[in-house]
Amino acid sequence: MSTSLSETVFSENESIRTFQEYLRIPSVQPNVDYSECINFFKRQANILKLPLKIHEPVPKKPIVIISWYGNEPALPSILLNSHMDVVPVFENKWTYPPFSAHIDIRGNIFARGSQDMKCVGIQYLEAVKRLRKASYSLRRTIHFSFVPDEEIGGYDGMQSFVKTADFRALNIGFALDEGMANPTNDYVLFNGERFGWNILVRCPGTPGHGSLLLPNTTGEKLHKIIDKFMTFRAKEKARLESNPKLSIGDVTSVNLTKLFGGVQNNVVPPELSAMFDVRMALTLDEVAFEKQILQWCKEAGEGVTIEFKRNKRVPVTSLDNTNPWWIAFKSVTDELKMNLKPLIFPGGTDSRYIRQVGLPAIGFSPMNNTPVLLHDHNEFLNSDVFLRGIDFYEKLIPVLANIEER
Ligand code: ZN
Repeated sequence: MSTSLSETVFSENESIRTFQEYLRIPSVQPNVDYSECINFFKRQANILKLPLKIHEPVPKKPIVIISWYGNEPALPSILLNSHMDVVPVFENKWTYPPFSAHIDIRGNIFARGSQDMKCVGIQYLEAVKRLRKASYSLRRTIHFSFVPDEEIGGYDGMQSFVKTADFRALNIGFALDEGMANPTNDYVLFNGERFGWNILVRCPGTPGHGSLLLPNTTGEKLHKIIDKFMTFRAKEKARLESNPKLSIGDVTSVNLTKLFGGVQNNVVPPELSAMFDVRMALTLDEVAFEKQILQWCKEAGEGVTIEFKRNKRVPVTSLDNTNPWWIAFKSVTDELKMNLKPLIFPGGTDSRYIRQVGLPAIGFSPMNNTPVLLHDHNEFLNSDVFLRGIDFYEKLIPVLANIEER
């Protein structure tokens, strides 16, 4: 592949080179080997002359923490979080190899993780490099965490870590975590998340020969169940589409994700079951919703049962005058004339574990004028957008670290 002029120009930028180096580590799910990431962050910590610690609440699932200690270490600290892992790729769908970090003529950096969310991890550290060079000192301590396994639910990563004494010892008062790209000039920001339920519906019935019209069959029951869920889905979809003020995070999504059962083409099986992935809007009354589902089961026929796997509802982080961290954050985005659009995150991120232990957390990845390509083929981030993100954190970090409150 020939090197374009643009690639040459951008790759002369030290921050972009560091970003490319990180993007080239294939920390791709499943079964990620994090040792290359650890070595990378050890080198970064050396450059920054900051201490690095590794915690392993679960073996082989390292939580890497680089800390910049403030002058008043007893004050609550700030956690700037990012995850190290990325989702799998379908390499033949990519224009450039997904772990090449190729830069095209427009300055777009192509790689899995360029948006989700290796960009943010590097932006934090590059901002710190500039601040350290300018001999800044901070009141509060800032911890930069690089965590594993967010893309598979964070169970062995952030979820385990927040329960440890090591986490409590960090004395965190506020956290920043990932957000999302936005195609318009606005920056999207997330102060809460929907909460997900996996619902397995089992429909037992009369087994028998496929040539008969037996009563009480599993297929009839499954049909009714799917119908109930899909009618609810259509209502939520209509609600979303009819109100331009709503985003996907404001409604409940329902999807049929798995079907189980069956033994042979001409045998009516004794059971079929269906898995639904439901992400609840924070406005939904989950007690009433569960009652509704149980009613659907009753109506579908004899013996229909459900198994739930539920995530808890987590309170949102307030975006008003009661939250000094938000005021500080907003003062910086206002100064930089960044237009913010607060939303509820449609999926799940590690922020929910941080909020679950009672800490305020905001999900923010500074990427405006950027198509949303997380988990998609040809994920890229433009060099200018990436570099502007460093400018943002360079302003934000001292403001957050020096706030008076608490
Ligand atoms: Zn992510």
